[in-house]
Amino acid sequence: MVFDLLKKTPSYLALKKDRDNKSLSHAYLVIGSDSLARKNFLTLAALTVICRGACMECASCMKVLGGIHIDVKTYDGGKMSVKDINGIVEDTQTRSIEGGKKLYLIDNAEGLSAAAQNKLLKTYEEPGEDIIIFLAAANEDSILTTIKSRAKKLYIPPFPSKEIVNMLLVKGFERQNAEVAAAYAQGSLERADRMSGEEDYRKNFIAVLEVLSSLKNSKQLAEYIFLPVFSKDKIELTLDFLEIILSDALTLVSGAAVELKTVHRDFDLKQVIKDFSPAGAAMALLAVSEGRKMLNYNINATSVAEKILFDILEARYKWQ
Ligand SMILES: [Zn+2]
Repeated sequence: MVFDLLKKTPSYLALKKDRDNKSLSHAYLVIGSDSLARKNFLTLAALTVICRGACMECASCMKVLGGIHIDVKTYDGGKMSVKDINGIVEDTQTRSIEGGKKLYLIDNAEGLSAAAQNKLLKTYEEPGEDIIIFLAAANEDSILTTIKSRAKKLYIPPFPSKEIVNMLLVKGFERQNAEVAAAYAQGSLERADRMSGEEDYRKNFIAVLEVLSSLKNSKQLAEYIFLPVFSKDKIELTLDFLEIILSDALTLVSGAAVELKTVHRDFDLKQVIKDFSPAGAAMALLAVSEGRKMLNYNINATSVAEKILFDILEARYKWQ
């Protein structure tokens, strides 16, 4: 299912085209903060290079999927030393055993030290025949420019909420749970997957939505700040939810042509935006990020909740 989503990405199509045109690069750099999508992209890339149809049924595909294909080696860049990279450089001197391409898949490449990346450069510059090195990283910041300039870049985009809902439905999620998880995921398969482990997130999401749609005056604050969603261990998730809901509210009131993160929540969102102007919604969103900063300074959850809710109220009335 994740493969199906990845197969639609321009990055995958570009790789497939390279394969079809027999113009595969010897170095690819896969970039995306979604670790689950990245990991799966590497496997899918290996399947596509090793088996023409990436059929997932033949012996070669089975070996790649099982992580036991002799010509496909995977590494965690976060745990690799210069010595480990030297091992790869040496290994690239020998031909593939099964006669096809020889692949090195290094995920978390942003964790490779500059020294380790420099070692790898030699292979990048004079690659052995049939060698392909895939580096995958959450971001490009710590990848050396020399590496970046020699690799072909493949970006993994965020996925549409509707696609994530479908993926979760196939996994056996109830529809309403899938919709909330997808809203929270904000395009990340990793975040969607993490949600499947959380039992009461949907209850919390709805509670946060209710707080926002029922908040009318400052007298309510004394009661609201003691709600379970603002407790010490829940507040961070609550801030995530507030951000998702308020950014959708901003999208709605400003009429921006952006896909809403929450699916099938239009009625609730309309309750939330009733008294909001676009500027007010933007100020409310800002209040949440200010609250996040306060949490980072170890200010207690109740005070943070009070400040955020007060600022949201103010944003609503000041910017009507
Ligand atoms: Zn196959």
